[in-house]
Amino acid sequence: MKHWPRILVLAVLATAFGSARAELSDVEKRIVEAVKARSPTALALLQKSVVVNSGTLNTEGVKEVGRLFRAELDEVGFATRWIDMPASMQRAGHLAGKREGVRGKRLLLLGHMDTVFEPSSPVTPWAVDGQRIRGQGVSDMKGGVVIMLEALRALKSVGALDGSTVAVLLTGDEESVGQPTAQARADLIAMARASDIALSFEGMGRETNGGESVAVARRGAGSWSLTVTGKQGHSSAIFGPGAGFGAAYELARIVNAFREQLIEPGLTFGAGVMLAGTEVDFDPALARGTAAGKSNIVPPRAIARGDLRALTAEQRDRARSRMRDIVGHSLPGTSAAITFAESYPPMAATPANHALQELYSQVSVDLGHGRVEAGNPESRGAGDVQFAAPHAAALDGLGAAGGGSHSPLEYLLAESIEKNAIRAAIMIYRLTR
Ligand SMILES: [Zn+2]
Repeated sequence: MKHWPRILVLAVLATAFGSARAELSDVEKRIVEAVKARSPTALALLQKSVVVNSGTLNTEGVKEVGRLFRAELDEVGFATRWIDMPASMQRAGHLAGKREGVRGKRLLLLGHMDTVFEPSSPVTPWAVDGQRIRGQGVSDMKGGVVIMLEALRALKSVGALDGSTVAVLLTGDEESVGQPTAQARADLIAMARASDIALSFEGMGRETNGGESVAVARRGAGSWSLTVTGKQGHSSAIFGPGAGFGAAYELARIVNAFREQLIEPGLTFGAGVMLAGTEVDFDPALARGTAAGKSNIVPPRAIARGDLRALTAEQRDRARSRMRDIVGHSLPGTSAAITFAESYPPMAATPANHALQELYSQVSVDLGHGRVEAGNPESRGAGDVQFAAPHAAALDGLGAAGGGSHSPLEYLLAESIEKNAIRAAIMIYRLTR
């Protein structure tokens, strides 16, 4: 979190002056014109990327989209490289680019090339219906990547990238992170550590009041796994000193205690699957299990698996410690153990992240658009920016406006490419002065 106090000062000033519209500088006006001049070309680039199936497991498709975007980055003067992942991971790898300078904040721009679609799922033909464009990954998030690339192009064309330090990372497995995660995200974390600010181009949020929002926070996501053991016996003796309560009641006690004692704003902990009986067997890879048992037996085994989503590392750790405490208070004749795994660290709503949102909002106001607020972190799932957030100030949601993501109805609002490329370009320009 290097050097953020200056951003904070700017944000406080922006707030104090009530987001009054300020005149763009001459360079900023030229940046706006440069984005506008390329709008048809930008849509053509989007079309080229969207008619390729780049489902995470379609490694050839992801690489093809990577070649397309790499050529763009090369033209903007970035030193680019393809980061391969080991074959065992069955992931395409990532596209990285960098240009180094001496001025302003060091930025990391994040996007992903893959989509949620199956490798075999046929791509939707490019179809423009008024403002709406349909296609696989059109808003999640090839539109966002095009916005990022067009912003960089515009900056380059007016000489505004000179002297700035900007890194780009487009991951190839955002929708289904390769395992182990530590290896799949090692480059992202290293690049975040070498940056002051991470800007991510997932889709822009739309609030119920019609306003736009960006993400200053995203909830961390992980899982828990509970294993309960008891003493097998005749059910006529249950609750007695010999038989004890059995694994099923102990499992029920634990998950019910979670519900009774843990619920608080921003925290969720689903119990996704539970099994109890004389034998239980669960295969996480297949997300499938079996249990054997009879109605007249005190069952000796039970398992449950669930998730845990939290706004901050502190909230996550507090929840975990209370869950461990509940698990430790076993009913007679039983014992239980819980383990936790984290797939995405929380991106907490830090003052530095809020300051970035205020700067973005001011850019929007200066361009004659409305304010852009901080969205509700519970309205989004988990995303790559969360791996950067512990190491740099972070903001997400600078990408395209659209909807229906992760479904065949996914669409993009075409005008958001130009509009958000302009806002991103001015934002990057102001941060790299
Ligand atoms: Zn996405």
